[in-house]
Amino acid sequence: MAHIVIIGAGFGGLTAIRTLRKLGCRDPITLISPRPVMFYYASLIWVPAGQRTEADLSVPLDKFFKRQNIKYHQGTVTGLDPKAREVQTDNGTVVFDSLIIASGGRFIKKLPGIEHTYTPCDGYAATKAYTDRFATLDGGTLAFGFATNPKEPAAMRGGPIFEFVFGMDTLLRQQKRRDKFDLVFFSPAPEPGKRLGAKAVKAVLREMKKHNIRTHLGHKMKGFSADTVHTEGGDIHSDLTMFMPGMTGPTWATNSGLQLSEGGLIKGDAQCRVPGFKGIYVVGDGASLPGPKWMPKQAHMADLQAITAARNLLAEQKGEPAEEEFKTELVCIIDTLNKGMLIFRNDKRTILLPKMRALSWSKRFFEWYYLRNYR
Ligand SMILES: Cc1cc2nc3c(=O)[nH]c(=O)nc-3n(C[C@H](O)[C@H](O)[C@H](O)COP(=O)(O)OP(=O)(O)OC[C@H]3O[C@@H](n4cnc5c(N)ncnc54)[C@H](O)[C@@H]3O)c2cc1C
Repeated sequence: MAHIVIIGAGFGGLTAIRTLRKLGCRDPITLISPRPVMFYYASLIWVPAGQRTEADLSVPLDKFFKRQNIKYHQGTVTGLDPKAREVQTDNGTVVFDSLIIASGGRFIKKLPGIEHTYTPCDGYAATKAYTDRFATLDGGTLAFGFATNPKEPAAMRGGPIFEFVFGMDTLLRQQKRRDKFDLVFFSPAPEPGKRLGAKAVKAVLREMKKHNIRTHLGHKMKGFSADTVHTEGGDIHSDLTMFMPGMTGPTWATNSGLQLSEGGLIKGDAQCRVPGFKGIYVVGDGASLPGPKWMPKQAHMADLQAITAARNLLAEQKGEPAEEEFKTELVCIIDTLNKGMLIFRNDKRTILLPKMRALSWSKRFFEWYYLRNYR
């Protein structure tokens, strides 16, 4: 029996487990992560309005591990020796025959003064800290922005920032104090969110105009101070700044011998295989995989890649060709707290559905539907 090890208890890692077991794999599987909990990032957008708590978004995995017969290794990966087939953690070494790396991305915190901003991708604590600070304000300017990894433009996450800016606009209107706040959206890109498609970018910017959200676009970021966002195109006064920096790969991979992309992500091929090492796969936010320019860093993509990695891993174990390629799709509901706009993209078509109430509800329904796999 081969020992399969999975790093990361997020979307990619857990989907890989479900796929392996669904395909009849009875081999021992060990999952390594710092906490035995699945965290559902997509619903952080509802934290400022008090519609979600940490408990709502964190699913303890003990029942899932039992159902799927998973050995859990609590620990943080600190290194990997792909030749010795060993994963090093702060809680001992784990030996593997096959490995799926799904440890997510890391946000580049290099801009001067970035400590003055709030990054919701850091998780619940950062989003709650933003919410608490917002609660102390009677008025002022709220700034929202995102940037990319200059060495790997695909390693970025902008969608949630659109959701936060529209969500805060709706919340302030519901609280009948929108007139006391100025909302501004900034991005070094002249067409932010371009991979959603040209029509979608136009629609998003049109919505911002309609909702009196100012924009500051196409100016390189210089940094932040307590009450200012500094760009090469001028400063933006801000009493509270939410900023999503570009993404890079895990620090532990640096000396592992795995190939890294220019942007610092772990390189894989269209089959999610890590080049040069049999039986090692990489998926999700921390992976640099081939695909169209618009390929998103999304949970949905992590899932699609994990399914492919699991299938190829089993094929390889049986001595069959591991040639399945992952599908690329972008599915995004930009939620505004009470409505949602849908963008779907694949290699054949782009679909854009205008803002409607049903789409916000379907995003909430999907959260329940998805998480029931792990409860
Ligand atoms: C506010 C917000 C809204 C979003 N909305 C959407 C949306 O609407 N739709 C969508 O598809 N996507 C959305 N996303 C993106 C989505 O959450 C990510 O793309 C997804 O989580 C990536 O999955 P992953 O498995 O690669 O990584 P993650 O889900 O980040 O999981 C990584 C796992 O690895 C573990 N880990 C990290 N480092 C180590 C280590 N050194 N050792 C061991 N384990 C480690 C982590 O603890 C975690 O368990 C959103 C993200 C945010 C922040």
